[in-house]
Order: sequence, then C-alpha cells, then structure tokens
Amino acid sequence: MTGQTLRPFLTRAATLYPDRAVVARTGAGETRDTYAGYADRVRRLASALRAAGIGRGDRVATLCWNHGRHFEAYFAVPALGAQLHTINPLLPADDVRRIVAEAADRLLLVDPSLTDALRAAYDPDAFESVERVVVVGSTEPDLPLPTTGFSEFVAAHDADGDLPALDGDDPAGLCYSSGTTGDPKGVEYTQRMLWSHTMAIMTPMGLDIADSDVVMPVVPMFHINAWGLPYAATAAGAKQVYPGPSPDPADLVGLIEREGVTLTAGVPTVWLGVLDYLEDHDADLSTLSRVVVGGAAPPERLIRAFDDRGVEVVHGWGMTETAPVGAVSHLKPELRDADYETRLEKRKKQGLILPGLEFEVVDDDGDSVPHDGESMGELRVRGPWVAEGYVDGNGDAFDGSWLRTGDVVTVDPDGYVELVDRAADVIKSGGEWISSQAVENAIMSHGAVSEAAVVGVPHERWGERPVAYVVADAARDDLIAAVSAEVRREFPDWWVPDRFEFVESIPKTATGKFAKTALRARHEDPLAG
Ligand code: ADP
Repeated sequence: MTGQTLRPFLTRAATLYPDRAVVARTGAGETRDTYAGYADRVRRLASALRAAGIGRGDRVATLCWNHGRHFEAYFAVPALGAQLHTINPLLPADDVRRIVAEAADRLLLVDPSLTDALRAAYDPDAFESVERVVVVGSTEPDLPLPTTGFSEFVAAHDADGDLPALDGDDPAGLCYSSGTTGDPKGVEYTQRMLWSHTMAIMTPMGLDIADSDVVMPVVPMFHINAWGLPYAATAAGAKQVYPGPSPDPADLVGLIEREGVTLTAGVPTVWLGVLDYLEDHDADLSTLSRVVVGGAAPPERLIRAFDDRGVEVVHGWGMTETAPVGAVSHLKPELRDADYETRLEKRKKQGLILPGLEFEVVDDDGDSVPHDGESMGELRVRGPWVAEGYVDGNGDAFDGSWLRTGDVVTVDPDGYVELVDRAADVIKSGGEWISSQAVENAIMSHGAVSEAAVVGVPHERWGERPVAYVVADAARDDLIAAVSAEVRREFPDWWVPDRFEFVESIPKTATGKFAKTALRARHEDPLAG
C-alpha cells in the first residue's frame, strides 16, 4: 500500500489524459500545455529544486499569479516532500517580511511583475534563509539576492530524476491566513491533508469535479491553494485554465467563452464585477455551469443574477485551517422541488459540512446548541484535512483535535450551517448581538448599492452601534431610507445602522475581504445619544 500523497494525481492525469490542455494567460500572451507536457515540466522542476538542495521539510515560497509555472510548483515542490509556501503578494510588506522569516523559506519563485513586492519586503535579516530567487520568465531583474531565470534554473535537468518515496505524513504545503482579524497565521499541510481535501472536493457533495470539466480558478493560487482546485482538477483529469496576472472581468469572460469553462471560482467581489460587465456586454456563457463563491458570503442578488443566466452559484465555506473547503451549500434532494425562494434561502447559507469532517456548534459554556436555525454558537470542526496547530506553535484556536473556527453560526433542522458573523465582527449592542454580515447583505440587496460594510463602533450608551460604509450611485437620503427599510423588513429596528457613510470604495484585505479592522479604526471617539 502506498501513502496518501499528491503525486498519483498527476501521474494518472498524464497517463489517462495526456493531451488534455492546461492553458494559462500570462498577461502579454498565453501558454498552452498538456498533462503529458506538464508532468514532464514538473519532473524537471523537481530535479532542479533537488539539485539546489531542496528536500523533505524545506520550504519553497512563491510570489506568483495564477499561471502555468506556478501550477508546476504546486506538484514539483510537494513531490520532494518540501512545503509549497504560497505567499500573498498583496499583503503589506511588513507581513511578507515576517512570514518569510518565520517560514525560513529557502528558495523563492517570483513573477517579474511582483519583484517590486519582493524588494519592498526585503530585509537582510528576515530573508537570511533565502538562498536563491528564481524569476519566472527570461528577465533577471536586479534583486538583493542571488537570482536565476526560470529557464536557466531548469535547463540542465531532465524529467528522469529520482523522486523520494513519500507517505501521507510528509510535508506538502504552507499557507498563511488572510489576516482579516489579526496577523496572518501559518498553517502547514501534510500530503494526506491535501490528498483527502482533494478527494472530498471532487465528490458531488463537494464541488463535483469530473474529467468533463474545464476548471478556471480565479481565486488566486496564493489564497489557500486556489481552494484546492489545481489539485482536484488534476486528480479528475479536467482541462484547466489559469487567468494570469490581475484578470479583469473582460479577461475572465473572454476565457470562459474561448476555453469553454464549465466551473470557475472566486470571492464575491470578483463576480459582482463580472456581472456589472455583463450588463453592458454580450457574452456566451453557455458552457459555464457553476461559479463557486466563497471566502465571504455572496449577496443574494449575485445568486439571482447568475440564476437568470442559467449559471449555478455554488456557495462554499472554508478557512486556511481547513485546507480550505469545509462546507458547501448543496440542496438536499427533498428540497429540490421547493419553491425558488425557499431554495434560495438554503443556498445562501454556508451549507452542509463535507463528508469526512465532524462538526459541532457550542455556546460560551461549551455546550452544544440545538439545530433550530436560531441558536447561535461557535462552529468547531475536525477531520483529516483540518489543521491542529499553527506553524508558530500558537494553539489558542485549537481544542485537542477540534478547530475553533471563530465563526458564529446557526444550524437549521436540515443541517445547513449559516454563518451569522465572525466572532470578531459581531456587534454587541445593549447586551444583544447584531450580525454585521446580515445587515450588510440587506443593504447590498438594494440595486443602487455596489458594496456595503457594517462595523460596530463604540457607543456611550449601548456599548457598540452599527455604522454602515456604503458605495452607491444614488441620492443619499432616499437611499438611506430605502436600505433602512430593507434592514427593518428582515430584522428588528435596532439593527438599522446609526450612521451611513458614503465612500468611494471599501478598504479590502489582501484577499479581497472587507478590512473591518481599518473601518473600526476610523471611529476612535464613541458615538453619543
Ligand atoms: P482570515 O480568517 O484571516 O480571513 P481565511 O482566508 O482563512 O483568513 O478566511 C477564513 C474565514 O473567511 C472564515 O473563518 C470565515 O469567517 C470567512 N468565510 C469563508 N467562507 C465564507 C463564506 N462562504 N461566507 C462567509 N464567510 C466566509
């Protein structure tokens, strides 16, 4: 018996689907490869890395967009029992510096367009462990570290080099969380964690990926392994499409049309942009059957708008600590004949915990809350692809094998988990809780609002009160009245924000989530009244 490792996913794809395409936009142009060619490239890169001294337990970092070379590293680095450490280049330079130092990365693979991010983060002490930078493409920019172009790095190596025997406990990956509520935290993945996550998301109760699919991960490959899609698409033998550096809606729609994409995935803001674009442009989305949305809750109008175009929004929940997918909102068969609004209510929820995981929802005393769709508690999960600690040894989020997610949820009698809010974002007003996410979604359901973020700010009398930040293109007073009515329609009066601030844009984290810590910081003085 061999272990649960990533390698067989690739060798199978290369054997059974040798001609299936792996396409990547590179910015200036595109690359087209096949699984056969790609498997060869992976072996060459693995040989080159091995010759550079990379072996079991070492860390190889990437600062790269979604393209073919990055995809090669996805298999080549773990094939050596080393960890692929995908760094988010959009993080503040201080975070990148801290992360490289903590991870003690030995080699860095960098896109030419991201060398500025590398220079900004560089510090000789923090980067002491980094022996070499390999730059994707032929240019060799002037960097303060030994630098080699990718082609030169792999040139002397062939695809026949030996690879070490691995088992499930061997290292495979390292990702840092987005840092939405604090500093990004490092989570290590073993081969078995990524293997079991891959198997789970391929199933119909996961993301349902088959060899007939054409998969385009729009979620960056530096955001929790592009939610595991590169591994799952390879395991399934699906055609893959990578959208390259900072794709805009026109690029994404163009790729969907030209490559026949059937399944794509990304955070809600990406799809809101695509929907805006589709308002003014004709597009043929006939091949597209599913858009996976996660990382933040999709506004209802996003689900409705894709439904109108015959595309299913598949809502998933996950975390860096869960590698990442933990729940997907599939309709149970007994709900499929329900009316549209009932189905929509279920699909909006974060969904059903994936097969293979266990979950519980506990109140502040650690007691399980009833599955009545109303009682709130913290979601805890455990299972083969759930982390049991952070790379820095901090164990606060863990209770034995249980991960305390920091997400406040309800579970309805059908078993659907609904995220009420992050524990850090819940607004505590007069001893009661207000879900910032629920109020945001109510405000964003108004057609004139493109984005809204709600935060709790200190209040002299109530402890905290909600303040809404709104991006909109409508007359302000009318809009405030309309969205307040929208909030009141679903929630008690006192959930209506005390203040609406109209802004050009909402500050976002490096993974596109609302940066609520930054918004809260704007309100040092308590509200009165
Ligand atoms: P960070 O916690 O720093 O944002 P992650 O990228 O790992 O780092 O984010 C995980 C968190 O993202 C979850 O704990 C949850 O709060 C939020 N999240 C993920 N998926 C969803 C979703 N579908 N709906 C709402 N929130 C989500």
